[in-house]
Amino acid sequence: MAVDNDTALVLMQNRKRIYRQRVNKMSRYDIQQVCENGHKITGCYTKAPEDRAEFCKKCGAKTIIACPYCHKKIPGDELRGDWRGIWNPVNSLDVPCYCTSCGKPYPWTQKKIATAIQIFEEFGELDVKEKKTIKKDIENIAKDVPEAELSARRIKRIWDKYGLLAYEAIMEFASRTAAKILKGP
Ligand SMILES: [Zn+2]
Ligand SMILES: [Zn+2]
Repeated sequence: MAVDNDTALVLMQNRKRIYRQRVNKMSRYDIQQVCENGHKITGCYTKAPEDRAEFCKKCGAKTIIACPYCHKKIPGDELRGDWRGIWNPVNSLDVPCYCTSCGKPYPWTQKKIATAIQIFEEFGELDVKEKKTIKKDIENIAKDVPEAELSARRIKRIWDKYGLLAYEAIMEFASRTAAKILKGP
């Protein structure tokens, strides 16, 4: 049976529309490359291989694309397929603090926590009780755990002894809940 031109055109448009609807719903994540100090190298490790780097141009540290503990790839930019089947970046992700696969802090988060602990231990005049809890308190405020609130309040109480240096070191990794308490009245 012969199909006239108009019918053929409508059929083709329909097919294109259906394909577009299907493909628009598809999205996936690329891989992120980050240096060990937490500088983002690229969020499109797979899609844009030309952006990859073995070492960071900001600090010279080695770069990674996966969690050192469980080897799960670090999630990168969100990609969406267009009607031609080409994947385009639509949403750029920040450098994450923790691995969502095993829950361990990434190397840059570990370094920031270690630095903050060091600042408090070296520059503060902690009493015996504070010395006991400071490490755990700092680790807690990096995460959104129920204990973070108590830890943030404790840190806030001894805050004045440390000044700006400690404030900046802590705010680098404090979870949103903890940051709110630390900044609050
Ligand atoms: Zn770097
Ligand atoms: Zn992991």
